[in-house]
Amino acid sequence: MSGEHSGDGEKRIVILGAGPTGLGAAYRLRELGHRNWNIYEASDVIGGLARSFTDEHGFTYDIGGHVMFSHYEYFDKLVDTLLGQDYMQIQREAWVWMLERWVPYPFQNNIRHLPDDVLLECLMGLIETQKLQHEPRNFKEFNLAQFGEGICKYFMLPYNYKVWAHPADMMNKEWIGERVALVDLERILRNIIEQKDDVNWGPNNSFKFPLYGGTGGLYDRYHPFVDDNLFLNKRAVAIDPVAKRVTFADGDTTDYDVLLNTMPITELLPRLDGCPGRVRDAAGDLLYSSGFAIGVGIDRHTESSKCWMYYPEEDAPFYRVTYLSHYSPHIAPPATTLFLTETSYSPYKHEDKETILERTIQGLINVDLMTEEEREKILATKVIDVKYWYPVPSVYRDRGLAVIQPYLMENDIYSRGRFGAWCYEIGNMDHSTMQGVEVVNRVLLGEPEETWQLHPVPDYLDELPATIAPPDAVAVAAEVN
Ligand SMILES: Cc1cc2nc3c(=O)[nH]c(=O)nc-3n(C[C@H](O)[C@H](O)[C@H](O)COP(=O)(O)OP(=O)(O)OC[C@H]3O[C@@H](n4cnc5c(N)ncnc54)[C@H](O)[C@@H]3O)c2cc1C
Repeated sequence: MSGEHSGDGEKRIVILGAGPTGLGAAYRLRELGHRNWNIYEASDVIGGLARSFTDEHGFTYDIGGHVMFSHYEYFDKLVDTLLGQDYMQIQREAWVWMLERWVPYPFQNNIRHLPDDVLLECLMGLIETQKLQHEPRNFKEFNLAQFGEGICKYFMLPYNYKVWAHPADMMNKEWIGERVALVDLERILRNIIEQKDDVNWGPNNSFKFPLYGGTGGLYDRYHPFVDDNLFLNKRAVAIDPVAKRVTFADGDTTDYDVLLNTMPITELLPRLDGCPGRVRDAAGDLLYSSGFAIGVGIDRHTESSKCWMYYPEEDAPFYRVTYLSHYSPHIAPPATTLFLTETSYSPYKHEDKETILERTIQGLINVDLMTEEEREKILATKVIDVKYWYPVPSVYRDRGLAVIQPYLMENDIYSRGRFGAWCYEIGNMDHSTMQGVEVVNRVLLGEPEETWQLHPVPDYLDELPATIAPPDAVAVAAEVN
């Protein structure tokens, strides 16, 4: 046994998972001078989904394009402490490739780049939305009400299906917040008439990237702060919430007073001894997508100021490509280019794993990012297959979480982070880190958490089928999207 209950001393805090959430909590515990804590990580490295991989050719791959930006002073200071001067400050330049042309991001503000007939269709759709009265109940209805039929047909619905791997009418609209640029009709018309590109929208229009080691380079720098309490290769396989004891795959155990879980909540519940059926069943309301992050390194320097590009059309499996080699001179060998592509999959959107690499390379050729001849110049590829990619905000999500989270907290278990809390809208690195920090503040200082909260269950669920439709039943909906 590697740790025991506190008795009368300091509370014993155990953290499961050394991704951004667990590391944020660990850093805060150390900062507050708390001594009775440990962090246990299933894998042999820290960083979780924000880690990076460097291959023998010198290419460094992230698990999907990671753009670091922040909503928090605490996170900013933490990043400064960890990185010092070792970062790049990058001006976002994002584009959409469709109808054989580039449209600046965000698409809806820059539709002047579309062919005249498509532009007219998009504008007519926007005008129609002004007449709509009803409150949208899901993400599809939200898109149609915000952007109209034209923008939905050409961009919003096909693109979002490629990203989320779920039909938009299975998703709620509560997560949107600052993640989607909302329609300002006057601004759109002004951009068309004044022939102006409108590219500065959003919180991430300038972002930092670690100079060394990719996104994971940030998390590597936690080592001096956490190593005394860090245990790698420790996969939690069972949790006894009565005895307050975690058992690991190697048979070792540890006791806790408070448990911070950061593994996916759907993985936690089956490991919880005596978890009531109604709590386990509530996990059925939680959907997720899986994904492939695929890197392709080629022996060619690319002169381009683009950061990443979106692909809503079917000529490529990916929905986004990042010029990762533009982010730092240490990401790829000199005079080479590293593309990082992202492709999602789920029971609602199949992707053949055997052919995904070849289809990705062909996709890069189809969208003119490389030529057929350049196949010869491919120096390295890497396929990273990730089970938990996006926590899909299903229409039923908040109903499920409203059952699961109170039960866990009654048992002194805080489940936080991208899949620990299962809330996409607070699933970025800054949010995740702060969820960890704020749990510590709650437990040790009695401060309320600000980032994580339990959402009200939407009142329109009564109008929907009681459970999520199985994949076959939504095949038609998926085609429409
Ligand atoms: C495709 C993609 C793109 C993204 N883009 C961005 C972006 O642009 N900007 C941004 O800020 N964020 C981005 N993110 C989100 C970012 O990666 C997450 O915020 C972050 O990794 C979540 O941290 P976490 O600690 O909650 O979870 P994770 O990173 O998933 O860490 C959980 C840890 O728990 C460990 N674990 C799992 N099971 C067990 C077990 N049984 N026992 C012990 N340990 C266990 C895992 O090995 C892992 O290390 C992106 C993520 C993805 C997948």
